[in-house]
Amino acid sequence: MILAKDALDELRDGNRRFAAGEVGATSVASRAHQVGMSGGQNPFAIVLACSDSRVPVELVFDQGFGDLFVIRVAGNVVAPSQIGSIEFAASQFGTKLVVVLGHSNCGAVIATLKELSLEQTHRSPNLRAIVDRVRPAIEPVLQAHTNSDEATLTGAAVRANILASVERLSHGSLILEQLVNEGELLIVGAEYSIETGKVEFFDENKS
Ligand SMILES: [Zn+2]
Repeated sequence: MILAKDALDELRDGNRRFAAGEVGATSVASRAHQVGMSGGQNPFAIVLACSDSRVPVELVFDQGFGDLFVIRVAGNVVAPSQIGSIEFAASQFGTKLVVVLGHSNCGAVIATLKELSLEQTHRSPNLRAIVDRVRPAIEPVLQAHTNSDEATLTGAAVRANILASVERLSHGSLILEQLVNEGELLIVGAEYSIETGKVEFFDENKS
Protein backbone atom coordinates (compact mmCIF):
# COMPACT_ATOMS: atom_id res chain seq x y z
CA MET A 1 0.00 0.00 0.00
CA ILE A 2 1.35 3.44 -0.88
CA LEU A 3 2.36 5.85 1.88
CA ALA A 4 -0.08 8.51 3.09
CA LYS A 5 2.17 11.24 1.75
CA ASP A 6 2.19 9.70 -1.73
CA ALA A 7 -1.56 9.15 -1.60
CA LEU A 8 -2.01 12.85 -0.79
CA ASP A 9 0.22 13.78 -3.72
CA GLU A 10 -1.85 11.54 -6.01
CA LEU A 11 -5.07 13.26 -4.90
CA ARG A 12 -3.48 16.71 -5.27
CA ASP A 13 -2.30 15.89 -8.79
CA GLY A 14 -5.67 14.44 -9.74
CA ASN A 15 -7.53 17.50 -8.52
CA ARG A 16 -5.11 19.76 -10.36
CA ARG A 17 -5.86 17.84 -13.59
CA PHE A 18 -9.60 18.01 -12.90
CA ALA A 19 -9.63 21.75 -12.12
CA ALA A 20 -7.49 22.49 -15.18
CA GLY A 21 -9.69 20.37 -17.45
CA GLU A 22 -6.70 18.15 -18.29
CA VAL A 23 -8.50 14.85 -17.84
CA GLY A 24 -7.21 12.62 -20.62
CA ALA A 25 -7.78 9.24 -22.23
CA THR A 26 -5.88 7.36 -19.51
CA SER A 27 -8.20 8.74 -16.85
CA VAL A 28 -11.29 7.87 -18.81
CA ALA A 29 -9.98 4.35 -19.44
CA SER A 30 -9.37 3.82 -15.72
CA ARG A 31 -13.03 4.66 -15.13
CA ALA A 32 -14.21 1.82 -17.33
CA HIS A 33 -15.81 -1.16 -15.67
CA GLN A 34 -13.29 -4.00 -15.46
CA VAL A 35 -14.42 -7.57 -15.04
CA GLY A 36 -11.07 -8.57 -13.53
CA MET A 37 -11.73 -6.44 -10.48
CA SER A 38 -13.91 -9.07 -8.83
CA GLY A 39 -10.80 -10.49 -7.13
CA GLY A 40 -10.56 -7.66 -4.60
CA GLN A 41 -9.98 -3.97 -4.07
CA ASN A 42 -6.94 -1.98 -3.12
CA PRO A 43 -8.05 1.65 -2.64
CA PHE A 44 -5.13 4.02 -1.94
CA ALA A 45 -7.26 6.56 -0.03
CA ILE A 46 -10.41 6.62 2.08
CA VAL A 47 -12.61 9.70 1.62
CA LEU A 48 -15.42 10.81 3.93
CA ALA A 49 -17.33 13.34 1.86
CA CYS A 50 -20.65 15.17 1.80
CA SER A 51 -23.53 13.71 -0.24
CA ASP A 52 -23.89 16.99 -2.14
CA SER A 53 -24.56 16.24 -5.82
CA ARG A 54 -21.99 18.85 -6.85
CA VAL A 55 -19.10 16.94 -5.24
CA PRO A 56 -18.60 13.63 -7.13
CA VAL A 57 -15.50 12.43 -5.29
CA GLU A 58 -13.83 10.22 -7.92
CA LEU A 59 -14.28 12.90 -10.57
CA VAL A 60 -12.90 15.83 -8.56
CA PHE A 61 -9.77 13.78 -7.82
CA ASP A 62 -9.61 12.34 -11.36
CA GLN A 63 -9.60 8.76 -10.07
CA GLY A 64 -11.10 5.58 -11.41
CA PHE A 65 -12.76 2.35 -10.28
CA GLY A 66 -11.02 0.76 -7.32
CA ASP A 67 -8.95 3.85 -6.39
CA LEU A 68 -10.96 5.43 -3.57
CA PHE A 69 -13.00 3.99 -0.70
CA VAL A 70 -15.71 6.64 -0.42
CA ILE A 71 -18.22 7.23 2.37
CA ARG A 72 -20.75 9.97 1.66
CA VAL A 73 -23.14 11.47 4.16
CA ALA A 74 -24.77 14.91 4.33
CA GLY A 75 -22.43 17.30 6.12
CA ASN A 76 -19.55 14.76 6.12
CA VAL A 77 -20.49 13.99 9.73
CA VAL A 78 -18.93 11.22 11.79
CA ALA A 79 -21.43 8.72 13.20
CA PRO A 80 -20.72 5.09 14.22
CA SER A 81 -21.44 3.69 10.75
CA GLN A 82 -18.93 6.08 9.17
CA ILE A 83 -16.28 5.16 11.74
CA GLY A 84 -17.01 1.47 11.17
CA SER A 85 -16.65 1.86 7.40
CA ILE A 86 -13.28 3.57 7.82
CA GLU A 87 -12.07 1.00 10.37
CA PHE A 88 -13.01 -1.71 7.88
CA ALA A 89 -11.12 -0.12 4.98
CA ALA A 90 -8.06 0.82 7.02
CA SER A 91 -7.66 -2.61 8.57
CA GLN A 92 -8.83 -4.69 5.60
CA PHE A 93 -6.88 -2.97 2.83
CA GLY A 94 -4.13 -1.24 4.79
CA THR A 95 -5.11 2.10 3.27
CA LYS A 96 -3.00 4.79 4.95
CA LEU A 97 -4.83 8.00 4.17
CA VAL A 98 -8.25 9.28 5.24
CA VAL A 99 -9.49 12.57 3.81
CA VAL A 100 -12.53 14.34 5.28
CA LEU A 101 -13.77 16.29 2.28
CA GLY A 102 -16.14 19.16 2.99
CA HIS A 103 -17.12 21.80 0.48
CA SER A 104 -18.14 25.42 0.06
CA ASN A 105 -21.83 26.28 0.57
CA CYS A 106 -22.57 22.99 2.31
CA GLY A 107 -26.33 22.65 2.78
CA ALA A 108 -25.99 20.67 6.01
CA VAL A 109 -23.80 23.38 7.54
CA ILE A 110 -26.15 26.14 6.37
CA ALA A 111 -29.16 24.24 7.76
CA THR A 112 -27.38 23.94 11.12
CA LEU A 113 -26.58 27.66 11.14
CA LYS A 114 -30.26 28.39 10.52
CA GLU A 115 -31.24 25.98 13.24
CA LEU A 116 -28.90 27.73 15.70
CA SER A 117 -30.31 31.14 14.85
CA LEU A 118 -33.77 29.62 15.38
CA GLU A 119 -34.88 30.34 11.82
CA GLN A 120 -35.69 26.70 11.30
CA THR A 121 -36.35 23.59 13.34
CA HIS A 122 -35.95 20.09 12.04
CA ARG A 123 -38.65 17.89 13.42
CA SER A 124 -37.44 14.72 11.75
CA PRO A 125 -35.25 12.86 14.26
CA ASN A 126 -33.21 11.48 11.37
CA LEU A 127 -32.36 14.90 9.99
CA ARG A 128 -31.74 16.05 13.53
CA ALA A 129 -29.11 13.31 13.89
CA ILE A 130 -27.08 15.09 11.21
CA VAL A 131 -27.67 18.65 12.44
CA ASP A 132 -26.82 17.64 16.01
CA ARG A 133 -23.46 16.29 14.81
CA VAL A 134 -22.64 19.50 12.95
CA ARG A 135 -23.80 21.81 15.75
CA PRO A 136 -20.92 21.49 18.29
CA ALA A 137 -18.35 22.58 15.70
CA ILE A 138 -20.42 25.52 14.58
CA GLU A 139 -21.62 27.07 17.83
CA PRO A 140 -18.23 28.66 18.65
CA VAL A 141 -17.94 29.92 15.05
CA LEU A 142 -21.30 31.62 15.33
CA GLN A 143 -20.23 33.31 18.58
CA ALA A 144 -16.93 34.47 17.06
CA HIS A 145 -18.56 35.89 13.93
CA THR A 146 -21.41 38.01 15.27
CA ASN A 147 -20.42 40.88 12.96
CA SER A 148 -19.40 38.86 9.91
CA ASP A 149 -21.35 38.68 6.68
CA GLU A 150 -23.12 35.47 5.77
CA ALA A 151 -20.49 34.23 3.30
CA THR A 152 -17.65 34.64 5.82
CA LEU A 153 -19.69 32.93 8.52
CA THR A 154 -20.62 30.01 6.25
CA GLY A 155 -17.01 29.60 5.09
CA ALA A 156 -15.71 29.51 8.66
CA ALA A 157 -18.47 27.09 9.68
CA VAL A 158 -17.69 24.71 6.79
CA ARG A 159 -14.02 24.65 7.77
CA ALA A 160 -14.81 24.12 11.46
CA ASN A 161 -17.13 21.25 10.58
CA ILE A 162 -14.41 19.54 8.51
CA LEU A 163 -11.84 19.90 11.29
CA ALA A 164 -14.36 18.60 13.84
CA SER A 165 -14.87 15.45 11.76
CA VAL A 166 -11.10 14.97 11.52
CA GLU A 167 -10.87 15.33 15.30
CA ARG A 168 -13.76 12.93 15.90
CA LEU A 169 -12.26 10.29 13.60
CA SER A 170 -8.84 10.69 15.19
CA HIS A 171 -10.15 10.12 18.71
CA GLY A 172 -13.52 8.43 18.29
CA SER A 173 -12.20 4.95 17.67
CA LEU A 174 -9.54 2.87 19.43
CA ILE A 175 -8.64 1.14 16.18
CA LEU A 176 -8.15 4.37 14.24
CA GLU A 177 -6.40 6.11 17.12
CA GLN A 178 -3.94 3.23 17.39
CA LEU A 179 -3.25 3.28 13.64
CA VAL A 180 -2.66 7.04 13.79
CA ASN A 181 -0.33 6.72 16.78
CA GLU A 182 1.65 4.00 15.02
CA GLY A 183 2.07 6.22 11.99
CA GLU A 184 0.03 3.76 9.91
CA LEU A 185 -2.82 6.19 9.19
CA LEU A 186 -3.02 9.89 8.39
CA ILE A 187 -6.35 11.71 8.73
CA VAL A 188 -6.55 15.12 7.05
CA GLY A 189 -9.29 17.62 6.28
CA ALA A 190 -9.86 19.16 2.87
CA GLU A 191 -12.32 21.57 1.32
CA TYR A 192 -13.65 21.41 -2.23
CA SER A 193 -14.58 24.74 -3.78
CA ILE A 194 -17.74 24.42 -5.85
CA GLU A 195 -16.78 27.73 -7.47
CA THR A 196 -13.30 26.76 -8.71
CA GLY A 197 -13.27 22.95 -8.64
CA LYS A 198 -10.12 23.08 -6.49
CA VAL A 199 -9.49 21.12 -3.30
CA GLU A 200 -7.53 22.74 -0.48
CA PHE A 201 -5.93 20.30 1.98
CA PHE A 202 -5.55 21.26 5.64
CA ASP A 203 -2.46 19.18 6.21
CA GLU A 204 0.14 21.88 6.92
CA ASN A 205 1.33 20.31 10.17
CA LYS A 206 0.88 16.69 9.22
CA SER A 207 2.87 15.75 6.15
ZN1 LIG B 1 -22.54 19.44 1.91
